[in-house]
Amino acid sequence: METFSIDVLIIGAGGAGLRAAIEAKEQGASVLLVGKEVLGCAHTGMAMGGLNASMVSPATPKFHAQITNEGGYFINNRKIVKVFTDEMPARVLDLERYGVMFDRKDDGSFYVWAGSKQKYPLNICVGDYTGREMMQGLVDQSRKIGVMYKDECFISKLLTKGKRVIGAVGLDLKTGEIFSVSAASIILATGGAGRMYEVTTNAASNTGDGYALALDAGCALIDMEMVQFHPTGIAYPPSVRGVLVTEKVRAHGGILRNKNGERFMSRYFPKEMELAKRDEVSRSIYQEVKEGRGTVHDGVYLHVDHWKKEEIFDKIPDVYEQHKNIGIDISKEPMEIYPSMHHMMGGIRMNEWGKTTVKGLFVCGEVAGGVHGANRLGGNSIAEGQVFGRRSAISAVQYAKKHSRALIVTSDVTVEAERISAYRAGKHGVSPHIIESKLKKLMWEYVGIYRNEKDLLKAKKEILSLAKALKHMKARSDASTRNRDLQDCLEVSNMLKTAYAVVLCAFKRKESRGAHSRSDYPKTKKSWEKNIVIYQEKQKLILSYAGVVKSA
Ligand SMILES: Cc1cc2nc3c(=O)[nH]c(=O)nc-3n(C[C@H](O)[C@H](O)[C@H](O)COP(=O)(O)OP(=O)(O)OC[C@H]3O[C@@H](n4cnc5c(N)ncnc54)[C@H](O)[C@@H]3O)c2cc1C
Repeated sequence: METFSIDVLIIGAGGAGLRAAIEAKEQGASVLLVGKEVLGCAHTGMAMGGLNASMVSPATPKFHAQITNEGGYFINNRKIVKVFTDEMPARVLDLERYGVMFDRKDDGSFYVWAGSKQKYPLNICVGDYTGREMMQGLVDQSRKIGVMYKDECFISKLLTKGKRVIGAVGLDLKTGEIFSVSAASIILATGGAGRMYEVTTNAASNTGDGYALALDAGCALIDMEMVQFHPTGIAYPPSVRGVLVTEKVRAHGGILRNKNGERFMSRYFPKEMELAKRDEVSRSIYQEVKEGRGTVHDGVYLHVDHWKKEEIFDKIPDVYEQHKNIGIDISKEPMEIYPSMHHMMGGIRMNEWGKTTVKGLFVCGEVAGGVHGANRLGGNSIAEGQVFGRRSAISAVQYAKKHSRALIVTSDVTVEAERISAYRAGKHGVSPHIIESKLKKLMWEYVGIYRNEKDLLKAKKEILSLAKALKHMKARSDASTRNRDLQDCLEVSNMLKTAYAVVLCAFKRKESRGAHSRSDYPKTKKSWEKNIVIYQEKQKLILSYAGVVKSA
């Protein structure tokens, strides 16, 4: 069995993990970066619209912080939001140093556009393929400075000693071999969990692994009920259902209409119209469809056919191509859209230095909680990954300097290796795909845009019954090398655990706030301006509350 010994292990090679790896390496630490896919292909590459930073006056970090907190319905950690918004301009300049060419105007200043709530524009971009360009720059820089990358590898377990993480066990997806890593400190940058929903904008790798790994290691998560549904996912055809249509479309004058041609946002948010907050637009679309004013495919229309064609090519070339591929010319006809699960606002509890509740374990990116509160503003995610990628790396390197690597207990690795091998038995047993498809359906149906006690109880019961089926789950292939079914077994277990945490927290929050809409508790209550904390003790998930960090 291959064993690595390293100062800092970084799990996840999206925008946040890569930024962390660059920083840790530049600080002089030995670094191993692990991701489930080939380097450069992480989910961040799908980011379209852009990232927020106060690069152009009159926008300021203070304004950026203010709308982030307002947009998050005031359960964001203010200290975290302050460092995020203060440091963002410097992180943009880092990205430019790595070779990212943001759109600029003829006079050389940044081209910025205004997303939801942005009285002063904050969103800088590269067309509507910002994530792709960002990943390119980050990968180039990490290669240039010699970050060691272990691609197509799945970390399945964090190893602990007392209350500290000391390493991890992983499966090499190419060879089927198990490996272990002894690390002085670990950064989790594993991204979100969109794949636990039937309809999502997320990449295949977003299976909630980081939340499950953290819970197993005794780490606390917060506000897991806060799941964002982006208003504009493609509604039809089924092959591309859920795929994102960027907010940049509405920000540049895209118009939403129902089947009767009514610009229905005037019914719900007459002032903000299409640029109301994401949770608000999603609920409005939901209502239109529910009341019979949706399209035949249960969506609504999004028009840009009133734009000049050059503007479409200039501002949203990827959206144009996406639709051309499904036979729709958006310069002549509308898109058909419906909300799609998009982002986890909740996640691993951290402080402003990416420190978690477990010693030696740090976090950054979407898997972390606290930045976005109850609703994320467009452009704030790939941005905050840069700030907390860097900060978590600084903390992890400092920790590694003070604490030597601990010896990994061989039997801990063997137990995990045996757990993985047991799934390999082939044919006889429950297919991971059956469990996964049941989970996706129940999450979409019972834990969606609107929730209520009855549905959440149903979800809880069904998840517990699926958890029982996990014991009989088997990969249908017994291939000892690349075995996609085996990966699915590991991912389904993680999705189920993450989903269970979402359901328990959603049940606990008896109010509506941002993305968490309870039809049985429709009001937002001051008394609920607090964070819900969840952690695992003796195999049980325990819930508690924490006051929101309000002083920056
Ligand atoms: C279509 C789309 C468009 C978006 N557009 C924007 C936008 O314009 N602006 C914006 O701010 N946000 C946008 N977002 C959100 C944003 O893209 C994500 O929140 C962000 O990219 C997350 O980055 P990350 O580095 O945390 O995670 P990811 O990019 O998801 O990377 C996670 C990494 O962790 C790895 N990993 C996961 N589990 C394991 C495991 N068990 N073992 C090993 N590796 C593991 C994965 O393989 C991957 O390398 C968009 C999201 C989508 C879906």
